[in-house]
Amino acid sequence: MSASALIGLSPDRLRRRFEEVGVPAYRADQVAEWVYRRGVLEPQAMTNLPQDLRGQLGADWSFRVLEPIREAQSSDGTRRVVLGAADGAFVEAVLIPEEERTTLCVSTQVGCPLACSFCATGALGFTRNLDAAEIVDQVLRMRELLPDDRSITNVVFMGMGEPLLNLPNLIAAVETLLHPKGFAMAPRRVTVSTAGVVPKIAELLEAVPVNLAVSLHAATDAVRDVLVPLNRRFPLAQLMQALRELPQISRRHPVFFEYTMIDGVNDSVEDARQVGRLLRGLPSKLNLIPMNAHSDTGYRPPPPERIDAFMGELVRGGVTVTLRRSRGADIDAACGQLAGREASQ
Ligand code: SAH
Repeated sequence: MSASALIGLSPDRLRRRFEEVGVPAYRADQVAEWVYRRGVLEPQAMTNLPQDLRGQLGADWSFRVLEPIREAQSSDGTRRVVLGAADGAFVEAVLIPEEERTTLCVSTQVGCPLACSFCATGALGFTRNLDAAEIVDQVLRMRELLPDDRSITNVVFMGMGEPLLNLPNLIAAVETLLHPKGFAMAPRRVTVSTAGVVPKIAELLEAVPVNLAVSLHAATDAVRDVLVPLNRRFPLAQLMQALRELPQISRRHPVFFEYTMIDGVNDSVEDARQVGRLLRGLPSKLNLIPMNAHSDTGYRPPPPERIDAFMGELVRGGVTVTLRRSRGADIDAACGQLAGREASQ
C-alpha cells in the first residue's frame, strides 16, 4: 500500500516518477505545492490540474498513510498524538508550541531495538521501520492540528526509534522537509538525534545538512554501557573520534549533545568533570534533561541542587550547557516517555 504513497516521494523523485509515466514534471511541482504547501490531499480539489490527471492521481496514489487514534494535551500546551498505520502499528508524534516557535517531534521506527535502560520506547522492543511516507505524514497530520496563524517551525527526530537505523527512509523524508517545493524548511531547523550509530553519522550529514544531536548520557564506557547498550558496539572513544572528524561540524554548526540526568547514576560533579574533558575542543552544546520518570524504570531525576552543581562544574569546564525544561510530562509526552501506551491498553 505504501508503495503507492505519493507523500513518500521527495519532490525530485515525484518529478521523475511523473516523467516516467509521461506526465510533465511541472505537474509534479503543482501536486507537491498542493500537498506540502497547502495541505490539500484530495486530488479533486487540485483545481489547476486537468481532470484526467486528478482522476489518475486518485486511482494510482494514496495521500494518507496514518490515522490519528488518540490525542492528549498537556497543561503546558504540548500535544501528543498516537497515529496508527495500515498494518495496525502505532507511532507517536509530539507538538510543542512555544512563544517564538512550534517544534514537532517525530518517530522513525515502531518501537526501538536499542533498549536504552532508562527509555520507555526501549522497553517496547522493535517492531519495524517506518517508511518515508509514514514519517512525512506525521508532519502533515500534526500540522493540521495547528491554528491558521501557526506553523511548524522546527522538526526534531527525537520520537520513537533510532533514526540512523532507518537511514534511507529518514533521508527521503528530510529531503521533502527541506525541498523548496516540499515543506521548504531551513536545514538548521531540522535536527536528527542518534544514540551513536557511528558508521551512519557521516552518511547522514553528507546527504542532508541537518543539525546533529547525539545522546551522550555518560562520559565513561562503564556507565554508558549500562544506559545505552549500543555503546558496547560503538564505545565513546570511537564515537568522539568520528564526531571530531566530521567536516560539517564547526562553531556555527556544533554537535548538540543530550545528557539525561539520572539520580545517583551519572549526576556527580566528577561525572561533569569527565564530560568536560570528553568534549574539549569539539564545537558542541550540551542539553541537560532531568530524567523523566515512567512506569518501566526505577530511575529518578536528581534533586535540583545536584543538577545545579553538575551544571556549575560543566560551565567551569568550558562546556556550553542548557537545561531543557521538560514539556508534556503530565501526558507521558516528554523525552523517553513515548511508548504508544493507548495502543497496548
Ligand atoms: N534514538 C535516538 C532518538 C531518540 S531522542 C536517540 O537516542 O538519540 C530521545 C531522547 O530522549 C534521547 O536523548 C533519549 O536518550 C532521551 N531519553 C530517553 N528516555 C528518557 C527519559 N526517561 N528521560 C529523559 N530523557 C530520555
